[in-house]
Amino acid sequence: MPHFAAGVVRFQNTVYPEKKELFERLSEGQSPEALFITCSDSRIETAMITQTDPGELFICRNAGNIVPPHTHHTGGMTASIEFAVAALQVPHIVVCGHTECGAMKGAMNPEGLNSLPHVREWLGYSRAAVDIVNEIAPDAGDDERIKLLLEQNVVLQLQHLRTHPSVAARLAKGDLTLHGWIYDIKSGGVTVWDESVNTFVPVDERYAKEIASLAHDPGCAA
Ligand SMILES: [Zn+2]
Repeated sequence: MPHFAAGVVRFQNTVYPEKKELFERLSEGQSPEALFITCSDSRIETAMITQTDPGELFICRNAGNIVPPHTHHTGGMTASIEFAVAALQVPHIVVCGHTECGAMKGAMNPEGLNSLPHVREWLGYSRAAVDIVNEIAPDAGDDERIKLLLEQNVVLQLQHLRTHPSVAARLAKGDLTLHGWIYDIKSGGVTVWDESVNTFVPVDERYAKEIASLAHDPGCAA
């Protein structure tokens, strides 16, 4: 039996009984706090990183955590974004890139993708981020270039999100917040795009105010 199939049996026998009430409540509906868009990379475990339970994140994953700009063509991302934003009314959208991203390495070197035509075409949605890196850091080494590309790609996909009518409308209304994150696989660190300083800052720094108010709210105290 594959490891993941044995895991289902273990889940049913030990994990489910412990959280039975949660699962029963979830069967009546969902009200996630965020649409969480991240890479398909197997090393990203969204629930573990964010310490969330089922029902808290509406998750869309694809190679490179890409959001194609809105067009009249219907795609999986377009429909999922519309559903999360217009139907579920999520108050937050997170675009989360990550270190060691194979998709971003491919975007940086598309000539190596000749045998993967669909990957190459998909990564065209990151092309502007590659061009930005080439413009702002023409002499940087490979490590620095890929780090900048991870960041610029997240910022670019946040821009693409704004072209989706459901997102644009909610942003105009003022009840939707966009977040750009980079998850570091090796260190567990998360940095967050801070528009006011035009850079990525550590997660505890970016959300310092929110974390402080949680600590003072007895209802949320751990
Ligand atoms: Zn990736």
